[in-house]
Amino acid sequence: MQDKINILGVPIDNVTMDEAIMRISQFVASAQTHTVFTPNPEIIMLAKENERLMGILKNASLVVPDGIGVVIASKIQKGSTLKERVAGYDLVQNTMKQAVGKGYKYYFLGSKPEVAKEAAKQMTATYPGLQVVGVRDGYFKPEETLEIIEEINKSKANILLVALGAPKQEVWIDEHKHLLKHVKVLIGVGGSLDVMAGVAKRAPLIFQKAGLEWFYRLIMQPTRITRMMVLPRFMRHIIFCKKQT
Ligand code: UDP
Repeated sequence: MQDKINILGVPIDNVTMDEAIMRISQFVASAQTHTVFTPNPEIIMLAKENERLMGILKNASLVVPDGIGVVIASKIQKGSTLKERVAGYDLVQNTMKQAVGKGYKYYFLGSKPEVAKEAAKQMTATYPGLQVVGVRDGYFKPEETLEIIEEINKSKANILLVALGAPKQEVWIDEHKHLLKHVKVLIGVGGSLDVMAGVAKRAPLIFQKAGLEWFYRLIMQPTRITRMMVLPRFMRHIIFCKKQT
């Protein structure tokens, strides 16, 4: 079984949800700082055009397949296939379930003012004893960045969730990870804080299980159609690359 599977140049870790949760637990216990990213087809297509983003994903500690499209792509390609979809939102929730026993301390950075705070409130209610040691919305000026870093350092958080959208969050993580004193894991979580706060909704389980979460999001938010037009392009690239091999 291959450890990593290359999808249009992005090396995706071939892990199950349980394996990904275990890796995060090892990262928190380690001496180094680790980065975790959760690309979907949209982010992979962005990385194809954006060398910086591609480099960041290639150097990450863990890259999990957030979208079902990524898993399908691995099945279309020749060689090993990804074991399962590992949605970033679910991965974070699953780490939160273990947080108390493992001493995880979260800092939420990103989303609209009040949303990050509400996300912290909801999560501490869902997981009693969960430590969210700081929150900050994602609409800060570049000159406020160092003050935010200081705040994160003072909070002694060891897991930082960065929700600034792609590729902003990946670049932010890459640029600032070396300044963080106690953070062991930085995770780019996209719109997850909105979901935690109840501002955005995940698709019902039946859609998630059928691999149709993207379809549900499209019905609920038809304005996403322009963003989603990337999906057929992504699949065309995968099929084209298969023909070349
Ligand atoms: N966001 C932010 N600062 C910005 C731009 C975006 O905090 O400058 C937040 C936005 O409020 C949302 C998240 O980043 O909470 C991105 O959500 P999106 O749905 O685009 O992410 P996806 O999960 O689709 O990648």
